[in-house]
Amino acid sequence: MKKFISILIIICLNFSLTVFAETVVFNPDSKIYHSVNCHHAVRCKKCIKIEKKEAQKQGGRPCKTCGG
Ligand SMILES: [Zn+2]
Repeated sequence: MKKFISILIIICLNFSLTVFAETVVFNPDSKIYHSVNCHHAVRCKKCIKIEKKEAQKQGGRPCKTCGG
């Protein structure tokens, strides 16, 4: 039972981390960032995965299709 609870805590922690550190796919050329599942992001070869905060810091704008 103790083991089960610690596994549950680890899952919860991972979940909250993904929520807070929102990752986007950022195109350094166009300065547009996409959500990871956006079809533009999938096609984009130059794009890098960074935190949304970091993309905005670099002057990034959200994609019009996916909203960033
Ligand atoms: Zn997009």
